[in-house]
Amino acid sequence: MSSLLKEVMSPQVMMVVYGFIAFVVVLYALSVLYVFIDANRRGCKFFWAWGLLSLIPFAGLIAYLVLRPHSYLADREEQELDMALRERQLAQYGTCPNCGTPIEKDFVVCPVCNTQVRNVCPSCKRPLDAHWKVCPYCRTHIQ
Ligand SMILES: [Zn+2]
Ligand SMILES: [Zn+2]
Repeated sequence: MSSLLKEVMSPQVMMVVYGFIAFVVVLYALSVLYVFIDANRRGCKFFWAWGLLSLIPFAGLIAYLVLRPHSYLADREEQELDMALRERQLAQYGTCPNCGTPIEKDFVVCPVCNTQVRNVCPSCKRPLDAHWKVCPYCRTHIQ
C-alpha cells in the first residue's frame, strides 16, 4: 500500500499537486485583493470589512459578490446619463433665444421674458414650430 502510494506520489505527480495548490493559493490571494480594490473603488467605507470577509476562502468572495454595495461609480454614471438625456430633451424643445430659459414642447412664449418662441395656428391656436408650413392639428396652411 505504502509502496503503491510512493509510486503514485512520484516527483512528477507531486509537482502537479504542488502546482495546483500554488494555483489555488494565487487565485485565493487575487480574490482577496480583488475584493479590497473593488470595495474601495465602490466608495465603500467598510471596504476593509469586505476584505476581511473575503479572507474566508471562496465563500467570502461569493458572499461579497452577492452582497456587495451598488457601485457609487455606476450610480454617478447613471445620473450623468440621465442628465444628458434630459439635456437632449431640452435641446429638442429648445430654449428661449432671449434669456435661455428651457422651453417646453407646447410653449408659445417664454414664461420668463415673454418672448414669442413659437408661431400659433391662426385657426386652432396651437403652438407650431417656426418651419411648419401646415398646422398638423387642423391642416390650416401657414404663411
Ligand atoms: Zn425668455
Ligand atoms: Zn391649427
